[in-house]
Amino acid sequence: METYTCICGNTLFFENSHCVQCQRSVGWCPGCDRITTLLDLGNHRYQCGFADCQTLLTQCHNYKVHQVCNRCIPSNEVESAQPLCDTNKSPRM
Ligand SMILES: [Zn+2]
Ligand SMILES: [Zn+2]
Ligand SMILES: [Zn+2]
Repeated sequence: METYTCICGNTLFFENSHCVQCQRSVGWCPGCDRITTLLDLGNHRYQCGFADCQTLLTQCHNYKVHQVCNRCIPSNEVESAQPLCDTNKSPRM
């Protein structure tokens, strides 16, 4: 199974929506195709935690409200108040 690393050093799994060690939100970043730690910029704005990516992210509506998704959308592609991730762009499961 593919794993990822939180900025706190903890191992993250593909389905994680938060880090059990540092309690930060984590999610899928479409900018770098990785599970990343979401740096909370406030006002529901997040930034990819990888220094080589730093994409500004908005949580998928299903993530933010229903907690059934852990994907994010690049903030500059968000067009509605209830943005949904593009699952067509999802990596092989
Ligand atoms: Zn962590
Ligand atoms: Zn990223
Ligand atoms: Zn979604």
